Amino acid sequence: MKSKGSFFFMNISLVLLLQNLSVLCVSQDFDFFYFVQQWPGSYCDTQKSCCYPTTGKPEADFGIHGLWPNYNDGSYPSNCDSSNSFKQSEISDLTNSLQKDWPTLACPSGNGIQFWSHEWEKHGTCSESVLQQHDYFEAALTLKQKSNLLQALNTAGIEANGGSYSLSSIKGVIKEATGYTPFIECNDDSSGNSQLYQVYLCVDTSGSNFIECPVFPNGKCGSQIQFPSF
Ligand code: 5GP
Ligand code: 5GP
Repeated sequence: MKSKGSFFFMNISLVLLLQNLSVLCVSQDFDFFYFVQQWPGSYCDTQKSCCYPTTGKPEADFGIHGLWPNYNDGSYPSNCDSSNSFKQSEISDLTNSLQKDWPTLACPSGNGIQFWSHEWEKHGTCSESVLQQHDYFEAALTLKQKSNLLQALNTAGIEANGGSYSLSSIKGVIKEATGYTPFIECNDDSSGNSQLYQVYLCVDTSGSNFIECPVFPNGKCGSQIQFPSF
């Protein structure tokens, strides 16, 4: 009787242990994403300059930089799975959209594969528990359409014409359009003027919905910043 009871107890413990393990296995290893878009004019007019992709000059629109898994304390995982390398064949149906919406501007000129591969291996592998490669890139493309940054700014009279705009007006317009407060990262043009470089929006762990940022990156723009042409 006694041994039967302890056998039963052991079985219960085993079931509880396995349940805990399965929760561990499907739980995400990150808390949210930063969805980061770059203004090409601000990538190119710096001292470092840029190179247009081999497929031609991108359109004058925000381009995707990346979809980055992050922790609520501001730290982030990177290069999480070297066995899950970038495979071009998995995103062949997205190539045209990626060339348009996720263009590479680094030198020397490339066709995008290197940039996408870097972003997948550094960041994408850290969210592979929720988005495998094809869906990771598709999620980023969908988020860009959803945020529609340039149209929101232009409609509010904030145009990429080298003019100077208040940081608070830029943030306000993006909040109005997306529902959420963005983080704006600035850089300096070759004359040292502070300008709108990247826009960060936060996204839940599914990769589909914007959320308020649990934590903002470090860094500060001036209260008036330029929005250069491209
Ligand atoms: P930088 O030092 O130029 O701000 O960032 C260099 C790279 O580090 C970024 O392109 C990105 O790959 C990564 N990185 C910088 N800050 C963050 C962050 O707050 N979260 C995540 N996930 N990656 C970041
Ligand atoms: P991260 O800063 O995300 O870690 O990495 C950016 C890497 O992608 C750098 O090695 C950079 O040279 C390369 N890269 C290629 N094209 C672009 C681009 O258009 N913008 C940025 N920010 N990086 C690019």
